[in-house]
Amino acid sequence: MRRLIALTVALACAAPACTRPTPPDSDRFPALGTLVEVTVRESDDGRRVAALQRARTVFESATRDWHGWGGGELARVNDGTATPSAELAALITRADEIASASGGLFEPRLGTLVELWGFHDGERAPGPPPDDVEIATSLESRVRIDLGAVAKGAAVAAAIDALRAAGITDALVDAGGDLAALGDAGGRPWRVGVRDPHGLGVIAGLDLRTGEAVFTSGDYERRFEWNGIAYHHLFDPRTGHPARATASVTVVHRDPATADAASTALFVAGDDWPRVARELGIDFVMRVTPDGRIETTAAFARRASLPDGVATR
Ligand code: AMP
Ligand code: MG
Repeated sequence: MRRLIALTVALACAAPACTRPTPPDSDRFPALGTLVEVTVRESDDGRRVAALQRARTVFESATRDWHGWGGGELARVNDGTATPSAELAALITRADEIASASGGLFEPRLGTLVELWGFHDGERAPGPPPDDVEIATSLESRVRIDLGAVAKGAAVAAAIDALRAAGITDALVDAGGDLAALGDAGGRPWRVGVRDPHGLGVIAGLDLRTGEAVFTSGDYERRFEWNGIAYHHLFDPRTGHPARATASVTVVHRDPATADAASTALFVAGDDWPRVARELGIDFVMRVTPDGRIETTAAFARRASLPDGVATR
């Protein structure tokens, strides 16, 4: 009987209400078109609350100022009514560098094309894909900057910096499955799972080293169907159409912005991903093909728990 009571008490105290008196160790909020969760391991209540607030502010600014539409800083730069701040200018420069290192597979100046396909903002209104003449015209006009494939990484990096500056040594910043870790999860590494692009489960598990980021680009993230054909938001700049050879690419790297941009570039690269990864200096890659085959770099396979039958390239 005593045992039963002890168990009941333990269960009751595992419920969230029991931990309410101290401020929570994580914060969740919508930002950059996804749900962000920031978790910090810090015993000092005041420091923890202040750090979480700083991280949230970083995401709020990035959502407003690094989106190419909607009246924030980048939108005004695109409209020719503002010049970029030093921070935004540095991000655009970094994006242009990655564009050139990826041989143009990552291309942050496809805003007009992304808008034509309807993937620039919120939910796409139902309707057919654009026609080839419109696509060709948009592809030629490389004026509107879209940092959609790198801004989340840059924001995660800035949030990690803000947490460090606030005295935090152990944290996880997770922006809808794209994340970076600081320190550890209490004597053991932060462990992350990579989801199956076309299923519900997790297909790979990985322990993160401090400062590392994991970013995935997948054809399941934003999509629409028309006449039974699915169209997604990751475009091959050579054709202006969704890149078809890959279902998802996951990249692990110490710089979250690089991991973010590289996952997009390697998605577009298709079968050629190992060469482009080398050009970009990326060691840890996992690719899932549309028919469910998994390929990784040897360095990724050495660290990750993976199903049988994975090919290393
Ligand atoms: P991500 O989920 O990081 O791969 O980024 C996807 C977003 O990047 C899309 O919603 C577009 O806004 C933009 N995008 C699509 N294709 C490309 C590309 N080839 N290079 C750079 N950005 C792209
Ligand atoms: Mg990306």
